Amino acid sequence: MKLRPEILASPVYRQGRAAGADAFKLSSNENPFPPLPAVLAAITAELEINRYPDATAAALRGTLAARLGTTADEVIIGSGSVALLQQFILAAAGPGDEVAYSWRSFEAYPTMVTVAGATSVPVPNRADGGHDLPALADAITPRTRVVIVCSPNNPTGVTVTAEEFTAFMETVPSDLLVLLDEAYAEFVREPEAVDGRELIGRYPNLVILRTFSKAYGLAGLRVGWATGPEAILDAARATAIPLSVTGLAQVAAEASLEAEAELLERVEKITVRRTAFIDALRAQGWNIPASESNFIWLALGDHTLRAAERFFDAGLVTRPFAGDGVRISIGEEESLTPLLTVAQEILTELP
Ligand code: PMP
Repeated sequence: MKLRPEILASPVYRQGRAAGADAFKLSSNENPFPPLPAVLAAITAELEINRYPDATAAALRGTLAARLGTTADEVIIGSGSVALLQQFILAAAGPGDEVAYSWRSFEAYPTMVTVAGATSVPVPNRADGGHDLPALADAITPRTRVVIVCSPNNPTGVTVTAEEFTAFMETVPSDLLVLLDEAYAEFVREPEAVDGRELIGRYPNLVILRTFSKAYGLAGLRVGWATGPEAILDAARATAIPLSVTGLAQVAAEASLEAEAELLERVEKITVRRTAFIDALRAQGWNIPASESNFIWLALGDHTLRAAERFFDAGLVTRPFAGDGVRISIGEEESLTPLLTVAQEILTELP
């Protein structure tokens, strides 16, 4: 069979191990709270599933645009922000082109670049788990078509500061597409961190991506959004799989925006939990990056898989990245005590 060799060599996206019924699922940075009744009601009212959804998600774009102070054409909706990332990469990069990003970061980036037929240029993160933006700027060549910045970075949780990001944007050619992936923005409490919403309209080459999957708890429905200059978004609209954002996802996202205050109270609980967890781990002696997201990172190097196994055996499903580290989502309150018990054991056993 004549299939593309680079695709055959490409890893298939996997979520890690399935969690047993009694286990805490802390492997996908999901929201541990159940769906809001208002969101469930909106979905139930939208059950005309014999009809196609609105292909442009006009109502949801309008709602978001009104909040952002943009036009509806400066907003795009995708089947999760991962679909939007793919659309932007396909719109800008093809064979012979380069896509640069800091690494380690969201594991889908390299695969999406390969799918586009382009070449990944990964630039190592700083020792503190943050992006090295001057090094990322240095990695830009005449062949670079897209640069991805992830803040807070998955899996380290470290943010880019507004100052670092502005300095970076000043050095990047103004016709080079920059994607600012802010999937975890609502969990940020660091005042110095970049906030893409404050940069809207400032750069002709900047697109900001966000999602309803994390803070808004709609991971299972697949809906994300991006905002940026209309011409760039139009190119991304042309690379979309038509009709991939379901009507259920669109109404659930609108209902979630209406119920935002209640959802953000939950986000606040998760950030408090995060801080308590990081403090307790540091008190045990762990070196933990300053996570501003709903997960934390244990840099375990060669001990990664063994450590993940220890957590798994204790009913704690985490996400190991072999040879690098274990990412643990901030989930149920009750998961923190067993997590800390196993973390202490692992630390004691480390050479
Ligand atoms: N960006 C980052 C950094 C992520 O971690 C994720 C989800 N793991 C996404 C984008 C995509 O999220 P979704 O497709 O659910 O919106």
